[in-house]
Amino acid sequence: MAKEKIILTGDRPTGRLHIGHYVGSLRRRVELQNSGEFDKIFIMIADAQALTDNADNPEKVRQNIIEVALDYLSVGLDPEKSNLFIQSQISELTELTFFYNNLVTVQRLQRNPTVKAEIQMRGFNDDNAADNKAGIPVGFFCYPISQAADITAFNATVVPVGEDQEPMIEQTREIVRKFNSTYAPVLVEPEILLPDNASCLRLPGTDGKAKMSKSLGNCIYLSDDSETIREKVRGMYTDPGHLQVSDPGKVEGNTVFTYLDAFCKPEHFEKFASCFVGKKVSFSFASLDEMKAQYMAGGLGDVMCKNFLYAVLEDTLAPIRERRHRFEQDIPYVYEVLRRGTEAARAVASQTLAAVKRAMKINYFDPGVLDELIAEQSEKYR
Ligand code: ATP
Ligand code: MG
Repeated sequence: MAKEKIILTGDRPTGRLHIGHYVGSLRRRVELQNSGEFDKIFIMIADAQALTDNADNPEKVRQNIIEVALDYLSVGLDPEKSNLFIQSQISELTELTFFYNNLVTVQRLQRNPTVKAEIQMRGFNDDNAADNKAGIPVGFFCYPISQAADITAFNATVVPVGEDQEPMIEQTREIVRKFNSTYAPVLVEPEILLPDNASCLRLPGTDGKAKMSKSLGNCIYLSDDSETIREKVRGMYTDPGHLQVSDPGKVEGNTVFTYLDAFCKPEHFEKFASCFVGKKVSFSFASLDEMKAQYMAGGLGDVMCKNFLYAVLEDTLAPIRERRHRFEQDIPYVYEVLRRGTEAARAVASQTLAAVKRAMKINYFDPGVLDELIAEQSEKYR
């Protein structure tokens, strides 16, 4: 039998999901879901992981579970095809983590570049931080190991995520190899699936900072209303050297163009042609390359570019927002989806845990095993 194709991915319930999540992972997930190529799809709300750096704020995590679930349903994840579940309700994942802990060194975790960057960003290494923030929580430091448990528990073959997750998947692969060579070939080595569009690998924030991130306040949320999006786009970082409309502008590092790279489709130029009709000058573009060429040559102003970007974003986000409003009116349904998804996910994780324990010879009371053990030990003392 050919190996099953299984997806696992997820998000931390630390806030509503934003357009960085959308282009970095969500959009791809929905495409993969609808491709029919996958045997199983598991989408996890990683609340236990969110608690590793939000231990003092369980209410925030609890509130955001429903926000993330609403975002999932509104982008088109379909509970009939994708299994949506809550991480903390599957204790098998914690058990797997505990066993995998033995296969990873502190030094290896210290070298994980994403963990390093996140420790820096959260100020865990800052001696002057408030008491409850000083030092690195052990759970946070070890979260790559718990992520390996999440991925392997479901025998995932493919993990569609943003670029910041690359070191996590690499670490998971190492744990799988170590486990399989030490005990028995039980675990499946996953592949990472990165966005194929370079600007989606790590979408910058509206302030031009390297990553759009809930914690940096530079996000356009999937649930933002259209006026909020208009305001955020209006205030966006562009090319600081582009002072006069007639000046040549830079598209590299210009967030407006990065977002266009991520969202713009060829048909948008015809659909939103009116954005380029001005009082003094008008343009007609057939493609993003043509628009960029004009910007670089000079004459095309930031206001026109931002109006066009706003129209493009609205084209994608308005249907998502409308679907969200509908699900917001049916909260019992949303929790039922999560409850059922969690139950189904637990059944799979418990099979993997059983196989792991068998491989590690810690399955003393499995059917048949106890009899064997009794016979073996009795023989020893005869
Ligand atoms: P937090 O600040 O709590 O870590 P986050 O915004 O980084 O939140 P996560 O839940 O950690 O979000 O990430 C969920 C998924 O979204 C991951 O696959 C991650 O790679 C992807 N992702 C997050 N931010 C971006 C971004 N700006 N561009 C592309 N992908 C992103
Ligand atoms: Mg993150």
